[in-house]
Amino acid sequence: MSSDQQITPPDGPSTAAVHAGEPRRRPYDSITAPIVQSATYTFADTAALIDFHEGRVEREEYGRYGNPTVRAAEAKLAALESPAEPAAGLLCASGMNAITTVLLAMLPTGSHVLLTNDCYRRTRQFVRTMLARLGITHTIVPAGDLVALEAAIIPGQTRLIISEAPTNPYLRVPDLAALAALARRRRIKTLIDATFATPYNLRPLRLGIDLVVHSGTKYLAGHNDLLSGVVIGKPGIVGALREAQGMLGGICDPHSAFLLLRGLKTFALRMERHNATGMAVAQFLAGHARISRVHYPGLESHPDHAIASELMRGFGGVVSFEVDGDLHATAAVIDRLRIPYIAPSLGGVESLVEQPALMSFYELTSEERLAIGMRDNLIRLSCGIEDTADLIADLRQALDAA
Ligand code: PLP
Repeated sequence: MSSDQQITPPDGPSTAAVHAGEPRRRPYDSITAPIVQSATYTFADTAALIDFHEGRVEREEYGRYGNPTVRAAEAKLAALESPAEPAAGLLCASGMNAITTVLLAMLPTGSHVLLTNDCYRRTRQFVRTMLARLGITHTIVPAGDLVALEAAIIPGQTRLIISEAPTNPYLRVPDLAALAALARRRRIKTLIDATFATPYNLRPLRLGIDLVVHSGTKYLAGHNDLLSGVVIGKPGIVGALREAQGMLGGICDPHSAFLLLRGLKTFALRMERHNATGMAVAQFLAGHARISRVHYPGLESHPDHAIASELMRGFGGVVSFEVDGDLHATAAVIDRLRIPYIAPSLGGVESLVEQPALMSFYELTSEERLAIGMRDNLIRLSCGIEDTADLIADLRQALDAA
């Protein structure tokens, strides 16, 4: 292999995570992608500037329009998401920023967007508040109900369908191929937030979805030490989103991009552990007398087990479960856990645990929470990469002590 050739897909996910998207030969023969901490880029003379404007030279111009460290992370993520087809990635300041950039860029005033319920609550809030102010209407339909989805399409107005796979916190997995086919038939674009799945477990673009977003803050970076987001799709549409980012300004800084690249080197290894532990923890909880319900697509009891098994390599490290008890009994279980930290977020090497009723919906009454499907006795556990047996032993002692 020549010294500056990239390893090109298709390769296994571990090989891609380590090598894809990065030039084989880097500046100074460094083995890592350097952090290019530069706000702007210089032109040797006016002729060089004109060469750039005329498209004769590809190079950086200004930090809001691109950065070599950021581009390396974008290329790696695009290769992981779409090993066989050409795809491009756009790195953003956070997962929310990736979502808002797509929605602001794609939805004109007077258009309509379809959203499935059980979506990240800030996405729903953005659509309900900010987009409404811009004259963009929306309809929320139950996740996975394609009949309701098709019925809610407003001909000539519906431009975009947004869903998640798996959803948060009940880990519903829509039939993405059917969703994509329906949307194409009706000439509507599709956007899937696949943060909970990652490209290791699910590849929505291969199923005909137009755009995938991830909160890079979670599994992709994997170490709970940065915020980032990414949108991946065909180069043309991502190019248009890059133009919008040039105006909106929500870029990922080069230092975070470096940490993301570093985290991605072990991405496939980490996902193997997250998947194995998530499954083992879900099975343990399903057999425990103090647990009334476990929500995990790897379990046969999950309503989307069949489609999830068809589409996904593994089911991830997040397990949602219901304790046989009220808000306080559930909080007591969390407080007895010794390994997971109580914190929002997921997908990092440290296990994190939260009771959604108290973490994200604290301002609502129990009745209001129930009305939006958020039960007081629900716990969301994001299994980190600690030893599976240790996490299970910790859960056992916390549940048995009650
Ligand atoms: N999408 C999902 C499914 C999430 O869980 C989150 C964050 O929790 C986001 C998007 C937003 O990501 P970020 O926190 O990186 O903005």
